[in-house]
Amino acid sequence: MLQLGLVAGVAAYAPAPLFAQSTAADASGAKLVLLGTKGGPRVGGTRSNPANALVVDGSIYVIDTGMGVSAQFVKAGLDFRKLKAIFISHMHSDHELEFGNFLYNNWVTNSLTNPIHAYGPKGMDEMVRDYWALNHLDIDTRIADEGRVDPRELVHGHDLQFVPQQVMQDDKVRVSALPTPHKPLHNFAYRFDTPYGSVVYSGDTSYYEPLAEFAKGADVLVHEALYVPGVDALTKRARGGEAFRNHIINAHTTTDEVGKIAQLAGVKKLVMSHFVPGDMEWITDDMWREGAARHYSGEIIVGRDLQEIPVS
Ligand SMILES: [Zn+2]
Ligand SMILES: [Zn+2]
Repeated sequence: MLQLGLVAGVAAYAPAPLFAQSTAADASGAKLVLLGTKGGPRVGGTRSNPANALVVDGSIYVIDTGMGVSAQFVKAGLDFRKLKAIFISHMHSDHELEFGNFLYNNWVTNSLTNPIHAYGPKGMDEMVRDYWALNHLDIDTRIADEGRVDPRELVHGHDLQFVPQQVMQDDKVRVSALPTPHKPLHNFAYRFDTPYGSVVYSGDTSYYEPLAEFAKGADVLVHEALYVPGVDALTKRARGGEAFRNHIINAHTTTDEVGKIAQLAGVKKLVMSHFVPGDMEWITDDMWREGAARHYSGEIIVGRDLQEIPVS
């Protein structure tokens, strides 16, 4: 009865595209869906900003919530009602700008019925509370006028200390975090161990060999990637100098270095994502792959938005 009531409520309030029904997501098994593969905060182009969904037996775990995550989530046919938890790698806006709006879109479609836990660096709890405060006029109105649940009671932000740790575990997944360097911030890489296989997500990081240890034996490693000749073009476009170029290079991992990490970790599959620069179409998939393939002998996927990667 409860389910029927919710579906009726959803249909009454929101436009049809928000309710793309989950199909493959309901099947057993695990897959990773790349929702946004462009590094950096610029919007536009053929890639959306960083976001990913891990689907395990239909339960959904979102990793980073860059601009565009809600629309990409819906386009991928994912169901807000299956969302269990959110993990944020670090507090650069390309990874968390749509965090609050993603929760809001979940709530406003009457899909937020069970507690959602959001994990990330210090500031997560504050970000949740500040977002509801920013939008309290709308939220209070809809609760009073439309009989909605209060989202403030259902979303829980968790600030993680910058130490290696197990973050959470439920019946589908065990999640661990490893702090990695990403000047001037810190970043969390996350590892997801499921009954079907393991996925490691680098977040943004400079070359960091302990990440290979953390990813040891994983089935899928999703690693950020920097194409150095593209950085030269980026520097020219921004009229930046050597300091600008070094800033980008020091905080990220070059395509060659990505291959080294994947080889050291011995992962089955390397998925390159968070492309910097991600909006220069002259950089072909082969150019992204070339550096990594010099060092890594396994399968390399140059990630595309909405691409689904089976985890097994
Ligand atoms: Zn980033
Ligand atoms: Zn970053």
